[in-house]
Amino acid sequence: MREPVIKGEPNEHDSPDSRKKGEEKRQADPVEEKLRPQKLSEVIGQKSVAQRLAIALAAAAKRNEPLPHILFDGPPGLGKTTFATVLHNELGVELNITSGPALDKKMDVMPFLTNASEGSILFIDEIHRLPKTVEEFIYPVMEDFRVDVVLGEGMSARTINLPLKRFTIIGATTRSGMLSSPLRDRFHMHEHLEFYENDELARIVVINAGKLRTTISEEAAWELARRSRGTPRLANARLRWVRDFATARADGQITLPLAREALEMQEVDEQGMDRQDRRYLETLIKVFRGGPTGAEALSATMNVAVDTLTDEVEPYLLRKHYIVRTPRGRRATVEAYRHLGFPEPLPEPELNLLDPQRRLFD
Ligand code: ADP
Repeated sequence: MREPVIKGEPNEHDSPDSRKKGEEKRQADPVEEKLRPQKLSEVIGQKSVAQRLAIALAAAAKRNEPLPHILFDGPPGLGKTTFATVLHNELGVELNITSGPALDKKMDVMPFLTNASEGSILFIDEIHRLPKTVEEFIYPVMEDFRVDVVLGEGMSARTINLPLKRFTIIGATTRSGMLSSPLRDRFHMHEHLEFYENDELARIVVINAGKLRTTISEEAAWELARRSRGTPRLANARLRWVRDFATARADGQITLPLAREALEMQEVDEQGMDRQDRRYLETLIKVFRGGPTGAEALSATMNVAVDTLTDEVEPYLLRKHYIVRTPRGRRATVEAYRHLGFPEPLPEPELNLLDPQRRLFD
């Protein structure tokens, strides 16, 4: 029988201090949980990732072993938590969920390790934010399923090895580049999640409209898909907003004109970009003359956390070629100027034309 999902600290005696840190964790939204696929067959898109996970599941089941440690990376909302949930359901094992920022000290992670049951999954979100000491503490866990605990101090200190049950760590990160290589190397599978295609998002929208008991026309589902920045979490959020709009303004059925009107009211444009995306491009173009400029300068000018810009805003702008990253910083492309309706920048002057030596012979 399937064990329950345990979120946060697995023991009840967590200190007020750790609860405070827990506030940083993403709060589970009950509607979002309802929309989450539960089985591998319900997962839309990410085909090659799903195929590799199916192999890993089958091999683990045949050998009666836990799954290998898996690292998922990719921008927020693309399905990292969903895959962890699906693996836990497919295996019928316990799932514990925590995150890098909540594991401040070795003792914060200890209950997760000692309470882990055979074959269970420990999901660590934002694993790139794990402090170095905690990271090093879990190396022997990932390698040999043991922890080294130091007892006593000074001359009388001794290390004891505590054996653990064999379980799986699934890490999720939006910044795989920030992971140290010893940690990265201890994951046996690395899976990168890509932005979704519009037809995949349209399928997700139709399925989730059904789960929310709402009817949506095919054209409206496509419109939502086109305007969701390749991200299922945003497709869900747009769907929920459009559903509210359709209920308030009409009979609750989502049609194309209603979907368009609702998204316009939310200031989501034709390309799916929201106010924050446009503000980013406007700042880059107007304040920094199109760049190149660093993320910190943009963050300070916009008064938005640098992590929000690099993790949430930039990946899609890069993918749509609205910005490029150069060694000297971010730069707006001609597409960005066009999208905002700004006059296109003049091409860089050809330096050698100004070369007096050359002009001499013209
Ligand atoms: P992440 O952990 O990468 O931030 P989540 O796994 O929480 O993203 O995904 C956000 C939501 O998007 C989920 O609740 C689910 O409804 C939806 N979703 C994500 N990936 C898929 C998928 N492959 N198929 C269907 N729905 C998905």
